[in-house]
Amino acid sequence: MTIDPRRALVLFSGGQDSTACLAWALTHFAHVETIGFDYGQRHLVELECRLHVRSALHARFPHWAERLGDDHLLDLALLGQISDTALTDVRAIEMNAQGLPNTFVPGRNLLFFTFAAAVAYRRGLKVLVGGMCETDFSGYPDCRDNTLKALQVALSLGMDAPMAIETPLMWMDKAQTWALTDQLGGKALTELIVEHTHTCYLGERTQRHAWGFGCGLCPACDLRRKGYRSWLAS
Ligand code: ZN
Repeated sequence: MTIDPRRALVLFSGGQDSTACLAWALTHFAHVETIGFDYGQRHLVELECRLHVRSALHARFPHWAERLGDDHLLDLALLGQISDTALTDVRAIEMNAQGLPNTFVPGRNLLFFTFAAAVAYRRGLKVLVGGMCETDFSGYPDCRDNTLKALQVALSLGMDAPMAIETPLMWMDKAQTWALTDQLGGKALTELIVEHTHTCYLGERTQRHAWGFGCGLCPACDLRRKGYRSWLAS
């Protein structure tokens, strides 16, 4: 396969989806950097997972290691000022009526991509890669394909530089995401994802299941478990 000479920036949280995106980007682009956002949303465990995933990818996949560039971590603590937790009285409830954690910030992916584009501009990176998906998360309007296509146009115009947004998982379900990483990196990548990525909304990392660590009950764990089982059964 021909490698795309463009340089890419992956929105990388340390979760299963963004790790799949990182593996996808390392397969397709000549140079890949990662960016993460620290806004206290899912405990520090996720930020630790980012570093473990990056170093495990570096150690186990030498052909990817030579393309894996710098990591950028932005402090977006100010997002805490506009989360449900800060603006409502319902602090004890972990999930709201839509099944979203109460640290959810409306439209946050628009903010993330805009910050990422500013970093990408400075670094000479032309492609932004994110793990947004309409299939499993149709409740998130800022994850939708049309939203991100509109944002791609807005960013390219606003920076007067071509800025492509790629979302390889947009039309996949969780079983297909497991299948994608198996295809990209085989058993070694599946093991890495089970062991090092984090998905659980509650930040639970003491219970180890076949599909990885998590409480096993929150919506994120539920999706991950069902996807894993359905991929194994396929
Ligand atoms: Zn969970």
